[in-house]
Amino acid sequence: MSKASTLPSEEALAPSERLVFQGVWHPPGASREVTSVLAATGTRVEVMPAVADGPAPALASAETGEIDVSARVGSIPRRIGFPDGSVFVTAENDAVDAWLRRQRGRGYGFVAALERFHPRLFLVVAVVIALSFAAYRFAVPAMVEVAVAVTPPVAPRLMGQSVLSSLDRILLAPSQLDEARKTALTEGFRRLAALTPRGRDGFTLLFRRGGRIGPNAFALPDGSVILTDELVALADDDDELMGVLAHEIGHVEHQHSLRRLYHVAGLSGLIMLAGGDIGSSVEDLLVHGSLLAALSYSRDQELEADRYSVALMRRAGRDPLAMGRLFERLQKELGVDGGGLLATHPATTERIDALRREPEKPLRNESGP
Ligand SMILES: [Zn+2]
Repeated sequence: MSKASTLPSEEALAPSERLVFQGVWHPPGASREVTSVLAATGTRVEVMPAVADGPAPALASAETGEIDVSARVGSIPRRIGFPDGSVFVTAENDAVDAWLRRQRGRGYGFVAALERFHPRLFLVVAVVIALSFAAYRFAVPAMVEVAVAVTPPVAPRLMGQSVLSSLDRILLAPSQLDEARKTALTEGFRRLAALTPRGRDGFTLLFRRGGRIGPNAFALPDGSVILTDELVALADDDDELMGVLAHEIGHVEHQHSLRRLYHVAGLSGLIMLAGGDIGSSVEDLLVHGSLLAALSYSRDQELEADRYSVALMRRAGRDPLAMGRLFERLQKELGVDGGGLLATHPATTERIDALRREPEKPLRNESGP
C-alpha cells in the first residue's frame, strides 16, 4: 500500500494504490454522523467506520464516476455525495484536490463537472463583488437622496433636540461668556443667517462651555449652532468665529447630518442584509446614530461647508479667509491631534489651501428650493 505523498501527482491511481481520507459520514437524510474513513482504490471509493471490531461492511460505496464532490471554498470541509444520498465530509482539502487532479484526463464525470464549475464560481464571485460596489456607489447615495426628500420637517427638529439634550447631559456646561459678548456674536450670526435660504429664523446660536470637547463649534440638523467659550477665547477677531459659524450654517443648509445618518443607515442596511440581522442593529442606529451623525461629517461634506462659508462670508462683506487663519493657528498651538475643532474638522493643509483658492462666486444652495 502506498501513501498519497509518495505517488507522482499527475498520474491516475493504479489499481493497487489506495488513498485514505479521514472524516465523518452522514447516513441518507440523517444528521447523525459516524466517524469514518473514505478509501479510494482504482475507480472505487468506499466509506468504512473508523473504529470497527473486526471486518465491517462498507457504510457506502460507489464508482468515482457516481460520486459528487463539492467545489473547494477556502478551508470549508468537502462534501462527497454518494448515490444512496449519504454524504462523507472531510477537511483534508489538499489531499482531496491532489486526488481529483490525478483523476483528470480519465474522463470521470465528477472531475469534468468540477472543472466546468470553477470558472462559473469565479464569475459568480465577481458578479457579487461588482453588485456590492454598485450598491455602495449608486444605491446608497440614491437612497440617501430619496430619504432626505421624504423626511418630514419634524424629524430634524426632533434629532436636534435629542442630540442637544444628550450633549448637555454628558459633555457641555452653561456658557460663562458675558452677555455683551454673546449679544455681539449673536448679531453677527443673525446677519449671516439672514443671507441664507432658510433665513434669520432658520438658525439659532447657542453658547456652551465645551469642557472635554474644548474649542469647538457644531451644527445640529434643526439649525441650532453651538459655539464653545473655549473657541471664542482662542479667536483673534470676530471674522474668524463668523467664518466657522458660516461653515456650520453650510452643514445645516446642505442637510449634512441627515445625509450622513441615512448614509450610515444605508451601509448598515447592506451589512444587515448580508448578515441577516436586522432588529438590534436598527435599534442601535436609531438610538446612537443621530448623535454620531451630528458630530461627524465626510471629507466631501467638510469641503462643501468650507466653500459655503467662503461664499457666505463674502456676501456678508466679511473676510472669507479668517476661518483658515483660525484653523492654522489651532493646528500650530494644539498640534494636529489637538482635539477640539480639529478633531471634528481636521484642518489639513489641503483644506486651508482650498479655502484660499476658492474663487469668487455667488452663494448657492444646492439642496434648497
Ligand atoms: Zn464641518
